[in-house]
Amino acid sequence: MNVRRPMATVAELMRPRSVAIVGASEDPGKFGGRILRTLLEQGFPGDIHPISSARREVLGRRAWPSVADVPAPVDLAIMAIPREHVAGVVGQCAEAGVRGAIIVTSRFSDAGDEGAALERELVATANAHGMRILGPNCIGIVSPANGFALCPSPVLLGRRVLEGHIGLVSQSGAIMGTLMDRARSGGIGFSHCVSVGNQADIDVCEVVEFFVEDEATRVICSYLEGLRGLRAGTAFLAAAERAQRAGKPWLMVKAGRTEAGAAAAFSHTASLAGSQAAFEAACRERGIVLLDDPEAMMLLAAGMSRFPARKVDGVALLSPSGGGCALGADRLSDIGVPLPAPSASTAGTLRTMYPTALLNPIDIGAANDGAAMSYTTRTHELLLADEAIDLAFTVITAAPDITRFAKMAAEGVEKSGKPAIMALLPGEAAEGARQALLQRGILHTQTLDTAIRAIRGWREWSAAMRFAPAARPPQLMRRTALPSGALGEQETKQLLAAYGIPVNRSVFVAGAAGLRQAADGLAPPYVLKIVSADIVHKSDVGGVAVGLGSVGELESAARTMLERIAAGAPGARIQGFSLQEQASGELELLLGAKHDEVFGPMILIGAGGIYAESLADTVLATAPVSEARARGMLSRLRIAGRFPGTRGRPAVDVAAAAQAVSRLSWLAADGGASLRELDINPLLVGRAGAGCVAVDARALLAASSNGAGSAIREEVQ
Ligand code: ADP
Ligand code: MG
Repeated sequence: MNVRRPMATVAELMRPRSVAIVGASEDPGKFGGRILRTLLEQGFPGDIHPISSARREVLGRRAWPSVADVPAPVDLAIMAIPREHVAGVVGQCAEAGVRGAIIVTSRFSDAGDEGAALERELVATANAHGMRILGPNCIGIVSPANGFALCPSPVLLGRRVLEGHIGLVSQSGAIMGTLMDRARSGGIGFSHCVSVGNQADIDVCEVVEFFVEDEATRVICSYLEGLRGLRAGTAFLAAAERAQRAGKPWLMVKAGRTEAGAAAAFSHTASLAGSQAAFEAACRERGIVLLDDPEAMMLLAAGMSRFPARKVDGVALLSPSGGGCALGADRLSDIGVPLPAPSASTAGTLRTMYPTALLNPIDIGAANDGAAMSYTTRTHELLLADEAIDLAFTVITAAPDITRFAKMAAEGVEKSGKPAIMALLPGEAAEGARQALLQRGILHTQTLDTAIRAIRGWREWSAAMRFAPAARPPQLMRRTALPSGALGEQETKQLLAAYGIPVNRSVFVAGAAGLRQAADGLAPPYVLKIVSADIVHKSDVGGVAVGLGSVGELESAARTMLERIAAGAPGARIQGFSLQEQASGELELLLGAKHDEVFGPMILIGAGGIYAESLADTVLATAPVSEARARGMLSRLRIAGRFPGTRGRPAVDVAAAAQAVSRLSWLAADGGASLRELDINPLLVGRAGAGCVAVDARALLAASSNGAGSAIREEVQ
């Protein structure tokens, strides 16, 4: 009988009523032995069916020669068997109506093209019956929320993963095992942990989408090595947007950030390293918090799951010593965390306790009359009660009674109902304090570094949550026809103007003889530029003359220009000149659009003008971006320091620049893969209120199917 079954979902696989362990054994030294033992130890309420070719009973359970022999339906099967048997077993499972197969066995796409082909066949066989595959090359599922584990990880034997509200999805089984164990030592629990391995069928994004919907999961943690291709990129962005809309933080440790790391990661491709900047931009905009360190990820996840949807900006820094305050303040300042001064009433109370002028950071050891200990609880409570303070960061250094200090600090934190992170810097002397914090469920770590990463991540997520996804401005219509091929300044500016980006007035002139007449319609001072498809950087070869006050100056500039170019770029074919009005501005920006092979349309902004390359001050984002987000991008440039006006220079029109950035991002989004690249360099930004104008631009579009050089259709006012 061939029944067409609907495709199984991750949610379905996470609630199996019955499971089969193919290759079950009693030997915990074997994969199949560990899986069964662990499952029994977790107390799975459903039916357990060991599958063994050799035995009719395993660990007191009735065993079957194959999945096909099991007399009841099996929802989920796990197999840790030799590679040559996998295809046969997958086929049996699929036919038997199993909904999901977890393949622990490795050496498929992780071992080259032949393995990859085998892997594709497995998925095709499974999917034809509605069955899904997790792996291959994975360690399966551990689900404290649903009370089961199908996982061969040795960290589980005799030890339970704690139940909590963190959903973990990992590309690497070893990292998943490590995180489960590390979390347990820190008193941190999970809703579900899923290892996706080679992601032949179910991938990280699908699991994240499950977590977004899952009630037991409040925070999503992930370990990722890479994304392959635009389809994966698109799914990734969609999952991220869903998580963001649901207000569920998504934290990630991404390996393969460097070329060395990418080479070590199993899924490496040469393009991934190149896409790293795009990856980081895509994550940042959608509130995915990138952490280099798994421990910092667990610490932050624990904090966010205990304080769901809590945003963090202002931090109070406390320590029993001046040294702890100084060290902590340096690190917070490095990452731009404000230490707000407490309000007048809080400050008033603190002044009765401390002789110091500085109340944040606060050196509790410097309390009046050496009353540090008795003030510890009260000081934490007071500072955390302050409106400007979202989180307390307590740097615990050596002190007469560290354990007591930690307990009293914890008490103050508990009373406040706000989050705190404590860094326990001493070694053995702090063991009692560590236990005390663990018992009370207070977030703690042993290094400043981990704490700082977690605080930074919390703030980044909070900042990203302020931005809504970009909505198309009503006056900006979608274009259906774009020109094609390489576009010069004039044509590119037409395209920009169609997207509402201001461009300066310019006229094409075929030869010097036409300059006088062309100048008639323009206001001096003039700018004269050479027009040649062979010249990319015009000013490098003397092809730009600015500040020309009269027609006479124009004509002589044209002569000199042609002479210089004849010498500097002898082979260049000259089409003519571009005669322009000279625009004025306070600042030159570079605005670019390009198409990333994983994330699609992206925009780039930077310090512009002829020094753009050497300044290398750029910020990248996936397109489209709202004006608010464009402002955020602008503020991250190093030259942002000049926006408010400095040393007698006026403030610049940031609003106009942000509008141009957002509009260009819509052009990039609409252009999709056919807009290969576009550069505006520079966008001259005027003083506040004066607007901005693109004075130079060029673009490269894919040759279009409707004929090269098709006219720009004016669909946009
Ligand atoms: P290229 O980048 O090919 O060298 P541009 O057209 O960008 O040539 O011109 C070089 C520089 O001249 C610009 O960075 C800008 O400072 C200035 N410039 C060019 N066109 C104008 C204009 N219309 N108004 C004011 N300044 C301009
Ligand atoms: Mg230029």
